[in-house]
Amino acid sequence: MKLIMLGAPGAGKGTQAEIISEKYGIPTISTGNIIREAIKNQTEMGKAAKVFIDKGQLVPDDVVIQLVVQRIANDDCSNGFILDGFPRTLPQAEALDNMGIIISKVIDLEVSDENITQRISGRRVCEVCGASYHINYKPSQVEGICDKCGGKTVLRDDDKPETVLERLRVYHKQTEPLKEYYSAQNKLYTVYGQEDVNDTSAMTLKAVEA
Ligand code: AMP
Repeated sequence: MKLIMLGAPGAGKGTQAEIISEKYGIPTISTGNIIREAIKNQTEMGKAAKVFIDKGQLVPDDVVIQLVVQRIANDDCSNGFILDGFPRTLPQAEALDNMGIIISKVIDLEVSDENITQRISGRRVCEVCGASYHINYKPSQVEGICDKCGGKTVLRDDDKPETVLERLRVYHKQTEPLKEYYSAQNKLYTVYGQEDVNDTSAMTLKAVEA
């Protein structure tokens, strides 16, 4: 099964991807996490990508496409994978098609811009393993500490309000057209984000199973 999680920044793609990943035993590939890791390790790619991330803009297509191509070649992807945060532009989606990668379904998580701004301010991410939490909707067992690895959970730099507005603008302009792209391929399943994350998860799993 090869899935794409689509949706605005902060819509809960990462959280839902983790739930599907656990249930189906297929890895989640988060381009955002891969890029943040590269920034932390100060690789050449990381340094170049940081300029874009800090402004809330997208990292150039060729860089991100290369990351995904390398990652999905790993053995753990042989039974499928969940792409979280990729593709984000039409050229990225076309690159997947041109490589002959047959996507099973695209799960589009819909959340209004007002809710996004609210949700993102409560979002926390583990600085060690990248697991995502939310202070209201999905708190870690011990505040500030990751359940999975014991790392510190923090507010991402690009989750600060000024950057979020730009990320939303970029989403509507560059990523939202993908809904039409995948709808034309009959692969789009829309899930409306609910107040209770468990309700959203139930709807997401239903869409995956449909
Ligand atoms: P995310 O964690 O998915 O919200 O991604 C954080 C940031 O990483 C984005 O705002 C972009 O700057 C960059 N990024 C992640 N995925 C992509 C992608 N598919 N294309 C371009 N930039 C990306």
